[in-house]
Amino acid sequence: MEKKYVLAMDQGTTSSRAVLFDRNGGIVSMVQKEFKQIFPEPGWVEHDPMEIWSTQMGVSMEAIQRIDAHADEIAAIGITNQRETTILWDADTGRPVYNAIVWQCRRTAGMIEKAKADGMAEVIKSKTGLVLDAYFSASKIAWILDNVKGAREKAEAGKLRFGTVDSWLIWNLTDGKVHATDYTNASRTMLFDIHKLRWDRQILDYFRIPVSILPKVCPSSGFIGETDKFGGNIRISGAAGDQQAALFGQCGFETGDVKSTYGTGGFMLMNTGENAVSSKRGLITTIAASTGGKVQYALEGSVFVAGAAIQWLRDEMRMIRTSPQSEEYCRAVPDTAGVYIVPAFSGLGAPYWNQYARGTVVGLTRGVSKDHFIRAAVESLAYQTNDLAEAMKNDSGININALKVDGGASANNFLMQFQSDISNMKIERPSCVETTALGAAYLAGLGAGFWSDKEEIKKNSRMEREFSPEISEEKRKKLLSGWQRAVRCAEFWASEEKDDE
Ligand code: ADP
Repeated sequence: MEKKYVLAMDQGTTSSRAVLFDRNGGIVSMVQKEFKQIFPEPGWVEHDPMEIWSTQMGVSMEAIQRIDAHADEIAAIGITNQRETTILWDADTGRPVYNAIVWQCRRTAGMIEKAKADGMAEVIKSKTGLVLDAYFSASKIAWILDNVKGAREKAEAGKLRFGTVDSWLIWNLTDGKVHATDYTNASRTMLFDIHKLRWDRQILDYFRIPVSILPKVCPSSGFIGETDKFGGNIRISGAAGDQQAALFGQCGFETGDVKSTYGTGGFMLMNTGENAVSSKRGLITTIAASTGGKVQYALEGSVFVAGAAIQWLRDEMRMIRTSPQSEEYCRAVPDTAGVYIVPAFSGLGAPYWNQYARGTVVGLTRGVSKDHFIRAAVESLAYQTNDLAEAMKNDSGININALKVDGGASANNFLMQFQSDISNMKIERPSCVETTALGAAYLAGLGAGFWSDKEEIKKNSRMEREFSPEISEEKRKKLLSGWQRAVRCAEFWASEEKDDE
């Protein structure tokens, strides 16, 4: 039968999603299902690995059935996933020995403090490109080995398997025949040397992790395995972590291509080509999804509170009923009347890295209205994104010509225009906003020869709208200098409290 579709499995933090794309990169079927978030203790976050698997299988089957597609018509499966989340399972039974420890989980913060005291931060940064943190998989694996009865014995007997969510899905899709991950996911474990492209002995020894539990690392695009779960054999030929998949889905193939996601939090990735740029400004160096023999690298930065600031206006401040409504208020006034809001609700990330910073509103005068307040909150998404873009430009020495945007809040036209204005950049918003799933589909489709090359894919990509800078250099400078002063206030507030202690 003629190959017509590529199936993307988009396994996220709150839901599992399956999307079937056609040859033009159009969505022909999409099904999504949420699953349970487990919080056993304050600061701990887990998922049930069996529920990850069953929801992902369920939505995939349903997406296929909805359009009455046959397995023979599906050229390939691509997987994209919540990154860093850690699963350990028994090699014989396929049963997880513990729940998935989710990237957000802070249970290993103490272990990380100790690793810092042991001087591991520099080792980790130089080999893995990461900031030593509980966020990544290494300390989560160590925790399971140390705390789950029998886990270490199993591991030492070669009977235990570790995987991020992509590996877990691949293992199950192939009935335990394939234990593999891709470069992008491996680069988030804090165990992988991103320069030598191999698991690192020194780090494994430090965290007491036996090498036998680790998956084989494959390119993000190319044959990984085959599944017969959908009534015929289908190749799995693409895998990448969600942010890397989104960069690929945005056709961020070239050095200097940048994408910015405006979701609950914000994520910016810059493709730096074959050059692994080491950041001086608190950004992470990571592997980008790519095709072909050589790996590509990316710089990554995140904004802790992006769309969450809009949710805060809606749910706590009760100033708006829906998130999109924020745009009307922004347009009701010509500016914020000098007000800045720094939504540092849980500290500030790159380039500031100040865990003591707190949310701050500055510049209030008698004439400030709700419109100004809302506008200042929306503008904060753009300022924070601009800070990341500046850090990336300075670290890499690469100029950013255009910013490719996606995520829920990228639908806000006011915000996108403001971003273009203060960053002095063109903003490109694609018509397909499912960039994460699309990236996984592209990787798999290219890996299986469904699409011949990246040029063919680029032809598919359609821009929904572009935004170009409209303000003067003088105005831009003034706005940005105000933001910098506001950030200093957010940092200053908490540092005084620290001094009081
Ligand atoms: P996630 O994948 O992190 O759940 P989404 O990409 O679905 O997030 O984006 C949801 C976020 O975008 C929410 O925080 C919401 O408040 C915000 N958002 C959605 N639409 C708009 C809009 N038109 N203007 C501003 N913020 C928006």
